[in-house]
Amino acid sequence: MRQLRCAWLLLVLGVVPAFSQSGPAQSSSIKTSGFSVVETLQVDATDAPRKVFHAKLTIPVTAGDFVLLYPKWMPGEHGPTGPVVDTAGIYFRTNDRVLTWHRDPVDMYAFHVDVPQGVTSIDASLDYLSPVEMPGGFSAGSSATEKLAVLSWNWLVLYPKGHGSDDVGVKASLKLPSNWQWGSSLPHSSSAAGAVDFALASLTTLVDSPVLMGQYFKKVPLQVGQTPAHELDIVADSSAALEMMPQQTKAFDNLVAEAGALYGARHYRQYHFLLTLSDHVAHFGLEHHESNDSRVGEGYLTDPTQWTLGASLLPHEYTHSWNGKYRRPAGLATAGYDVPMEGNLLWVYEGLTEYFGYVLTGRSGLQTPEQWRDQIAQIAMTYSHRPGRKWRSLEDTATAAQTLYEASEAFTNYRRSVDYYDEGALIWLEADTIIRQKSGGKKSMDDFAHLFHGGQNTPPAVKTYTFEDVVNTLNQVQPYDWRGFLTERILKVAERAPLGGITNSGWLLVYTDQPNAIAKMREQQGRGFDATVSVGLVLTKDGAVMDAIEDGIAAKNGIGPGMKIVAVNGRKYSQEFLIAAMREAQKSHQPMQLLVENTEYYRTISLPYFDGPQFPHLIRDESKTDLLGDIIKPKVTTAPAPVTGAE
Ligand SMILES: [Zn+2]
Repeated sequence: MRQLRCAWLLLVLGVVPAFSQSGPAQSSSIKTSGFSVVETLQVDATDAPRKVFHAKLTIPVTAGDFVLLYPKWMPGEHGPTGPVVDTAGIYFRTNDRVLTWHRDPVDMYAFHVDVPQGVTSIDASLDYLSPVEMPGGFSAGSSATEKLAVLSWNWLVLYPKGHGSDDVGVKASLKLPSNWQWGSSLPHSSSAAGAVDFALASLTTLVDSPVLMGQYFKKVPLQVGQTPAHELDIVADSSAALEMMPQQTKAFDNLVAEAGALYGARHYRQYHFLLTLSDHVAHFGLEHHESNDSRVGEGYLTDPTQWTLGASLLPHEYTHSWNGKYRRPAGLATAGYDVPMEGNLLWVYEGLTEYFGYVLTGRSGLQTPEQWRDQIAQIAMTYSHRPGRKWRSLEDTATAAQTLYEASEAFTNYRRSVDYYDEGALIWLEADTIIRQKSGGKKSMDDFAHLFHGGQNTPPAVKTYTFEDVVNTLNQVQPYDWRGFLTERILKVAERAPLGGITNSGWLLVYTDQPNAIAKMREQQGRGFDATVSVGLVLTKDGAVMDAIEDGIAAKNGIGPGMKIVAVNGRKYSQEFLIAAMREAQKSHQPMQLLVENTEYYRTISLPYFDGPQFPHLIRDESKTDLLGDIIKPKVTTAPAPVTGAE
């Protein structure tokens, strides 16, 4: 999963120690028959533009107090995010008789139904009310517009308590507006205008196979002629938004080929990239075994700035098919949605995915090498100015993942956030450079991917792992003190950011007074001003303080999140004027005067900062081999022409 709503934070990785989970790897394969319970589920999405989805279920039951569960702990979301709060119109019936029910007083996701004697099957109906607000929420967030919708089946499912999600079979069907097309990795038995009958599938597979639908729909086959098949399904709020440049198609095609080369095998029957282009749905990516649900702005394909800033989303979500779905930490491979998840190994699940996602972004040409390095520079800057790392280990951010995704952006630098994404990526980059150096260039993290994620092509299966398995596989690739390496960086509090991967690979993180290309694009998008390194502030476009670095000069002089910089040296705030004021102060050595608004009070704060604007860049260290260049060099494809128009 990946969050896109953070204004400045590219994501970070976190790790959790898993010494307690040292059992042997468990393995399970996709089930298509032999279920202990089989339900039918009819979903009516014809009211999607009105944000209402209707469902009717037929569920085998036994007489008495029969408990049905609504999915709570959602795979890929790493928390109890099932949107039970947005269900309505819940009825249970047998023949024409409405049955009484009550919610469990402790478990809000459990429904007790009074089933009369002799009754072996009931009909259930429920509606899902899709949020109308834009931000947040992942798959429980805004998912429907006038012209499109993304259906997550878990919104509309109830299943008998006591059965694992692999043991419940569901025969699903879907009605959708008749002029809408659809795409999904869920196998179907028949399809006509406005109606689809899906094949019997386990509840695991159903919930793991969302349906993309809409009026403006485009299917783009990728790596044509290859088995398994790959398809990019795109839905948008306008037909114009579906226009793709040839180099964009080539970059996605490259992505499939480069992923095959990186992992050496695929573990899906077919793969669908489900891409939503809309300014009116929640923006995020959610992984599935045979698809991903990725939602970006309507201009993603047509605006080079959006394209470049969102370039690593699909590589990240696609990588999860191997790292997260096929190979999964034991604590996240739960038997059912009622079982709490343990996130302590999310520094592998999300962190290594973030790293391989970046690697594939570079290799497939979704970003140019220069853009790629600028993105890494931004990340390195963020984690080098994170006072929270003095008190909190990266592992603790992973353990606490279920509390952090929805945490406020205020004080992120001090509280820490889902740092296991991008800090994890930096740590895996360092591991890659150590392997390359110690093996004399013969081995790399590609070899780890082959050993850990590859093997033979298979249908979906889950092979769990522990911390020990990760250490052992690293040692198989290249003997080294990997336990010590990971312990120092992840399990223990580590005050300094893990920048060894950058320096080992022949690059240095430096700060200059000129923004890098990625920082410029963020400004163009109106995402605000990251002045972390200079005055220690992260500001919105209009000067509101999103975060103040806890040991930065602004915080020390009384500025905190929630305040707003109204004026700089007497003139209304803008990024341009703040930068000009920093340059002026550098020359004159006179403090800047900031007029700050805080809870209806105004105050002028004199800020004695004299070092000018500071933006991160990577510059070449010619004394060392350029390993970054090697890491993102295409292995089996050629680079597409850059998507230009931004800058
Ligand atoms: Zn992810």
